[in-house]
Amino acid sequence: MLWLPLLAHAGAATSINALRGRAVTDPRGVIADVRQRLDLDDGSLAPAEERALLWGMGSAAINVDDEAALTESTLRLDSLGHARGDGVALAAAGFLHARHDVANGIGDGLSEALRAAARVQGSDDAQIVAWARFQLCDAYALDESAAKALTLCRQAQASYRALGDEWGIADAENDEGIALASLGRVREAAAAYRRSRERFTRVGATELAVMVGDNLARMYLKLGRPREALALSRTSLAHELAAGRISDSLDSSSDIARAEAALGHPHRAYAMMQATVARARAAGINGQLVDLLRNESELAERIGRMHDALAQLREALKLTASTSTPALRAIEAELEARYATREKELRIHDLERENRIKDLDLEAARAEAMRRDEARRRDVLLGRVTAVAMVGLLLVAVLLFLLLRSQRRHAAELRLQALRDPLTGIDNRRAFLRCAESLLSPLPETAPPVLMLIDVDHFKRINDSAGHPQGDRVLVQVSAMLRDAVGDSGWVSRVGGEEFAVLCAGLGADAGMRLAETLRAGVATLPMPSQAGPDHVTVSIGVAAFDTRRHRDVDGWMRAADVALYSAKSLGRDRVVADAMVD
Ligand code: GH3
Ligand code: MG
Ligand code: MG
Repeated sequence: MLWLPLLAHAGAATSINALRGRAVTDPRGVIADVRQRLDLDDGSLAPAEERALLWGMGSAAINVDDEAALTESTLRLDSLGHARGDGVALAAAGFLHARHDVANGIGDGLSEALRAAARVQGSDDAQIVAWARFQLCDAYALDESAAKALTLCRQAQASYRALGDEWGIADAENDEGIALASLGRVREAAAAYRRSRERFTRVGATELAVMVGDNLARMYLKLGRPREALALSRTSLAHELAAGRISDSLDSSSDIARAEAALGHPHRAYAMMQATVARARAAGINGQLVDLLRNESELAERIGRMHDALAQLREALKLTASTSTPALRAIEAELEARYATREKELRIHDLERENRIKDLDLEAARAEAMRRDEARRRDVLLGRVTAVAMVGLLLVAVLLFLLLRSQRRHAAELRLQALRDPLTGIDNRRAFLRCAESLLSPLPETAPPVLMLIDVDHFKRINDSAGHPQGDRVLVQVSAMLRDAVGDSGWVSRVGGEEFAVLCAGLGADAGMRLAETLRAGVATLPMPSQAGPDHVTVSIGVAAFDTRRHRDVDGWMRAADVALYSAKSLGRDRVVADAMVD
């Protein structure tokens, strides 16, 4: 039942190459199917068929490191060969041993492969000859004897070409690429891989085309064509994930990360690589971990994560120490060298960083000191400005105070001047009127106030004979005499040119007449200072005690006093006339 699909895409069931495609793309499936077929065998299986199945199983076992399956297939091939004298079966067992030993660095795999090839040398089966050449090429390629591998791969290609075996040609072209790549002939390697890939695609071996695509992607990366590498690796990854080929998918992820880094996305690349390593660990695939860790470390280094890079290198080193093969030993040596350099670099890096930090600390301290200085300077300045401002304010306040005081004084002076006669220094007419008004409101109930109007007699003559300044002096003397004589009992004012008024509150008419008489007599006896003027002057006085029946207001009161004064003048001057006497 399983037998037919197992060989369905391989053409002849007896062909040694019958399972070569599936051994690569579905190795576990091949191992399981072959085991089942052999268990069911009732002796009807032809030796060539059995040989082909065992070869397929062995190839698949190598691809998945299935030691048990490999031992099973080689033992059975050996016994088949010895029992039936089947050189091809013995050669197949020999090639499987050789490939296993070369891959794991055990024994002398290459000699084994050469011995196996010798078993089928001179075979008249062209397919077997081509197969043997290819196996030898494979062994040399794995042993990293690239120059020899290259020659053998080209020979194998020629043999397959003669047979029209496109699959075989594509296989050999892929190995040619591997040999050229290890010889550093990257451009030629890429061309070989391209040919192989196209050929596999043409014969419908899509999975194999994808695998060769992985090799081609690595060449593109080396050739500085990351975009093409990325496209190929992505295609591979999709196929591998779909087919559940975890190990291959890890390689493709790693290739994608490299391509991303080459495209200038190192952070994205590193993140991918971290995820890939985590995936490898989760899947328990340690075989690839060394390569994956090295890639991760390189990417970590690229983005400056030196400690991570070193940790990853260390882990890779530990892994290589536990699985020792020649290939891994070479890697280990390289890693050890890199590790030593990196450790040194990292120490220098750390020292530099420490120094930088110290420098930064120093700079920060300096900046802090400068900031403090600045703050202190600012405080001092602020203090000075405040002091100056306060002194200024004080000055302004003092000035304002002085200004206000002088203004107040000036205003008081002005007020005073408005009520004072400038020549004599006594109250003027305005002050007199205010005083008179105030004496009438309210009217006193006791003795009435008295008003006297005093006029200098024939004053014009004094002016005319002695001059105006002398007239002024006379006015000053008369006023002084009046003020002294009235004293605190009343107010003396100059109400006109040579006319004075005296107001006395609560004096009454009689006392008023007496005081007026005293004043008249006082003036008349007043000695005149200047020889140029008269030796004495006289005054006429009109007296009016306020009488509510006769006087209505200040005007009426003044008019009454004036009439009395006029009367005194008319009666011959130098006399006192009372208002009441006029009627
Ligand atoms: P009567 O006895 O009738 O009062 O005669 P009189 O000359 O005093 O009267 P009159 O009113 O004719 O003259 C007053 C004069 O007083 C006129 C004016 O020149 C003079 N006089 C007024 N004010 C002043 C002044 O301030 N100084 C001087 N020197 N003379 C003044
Ligand atoms: Mg007069
Ligand atoms: Mg007069």
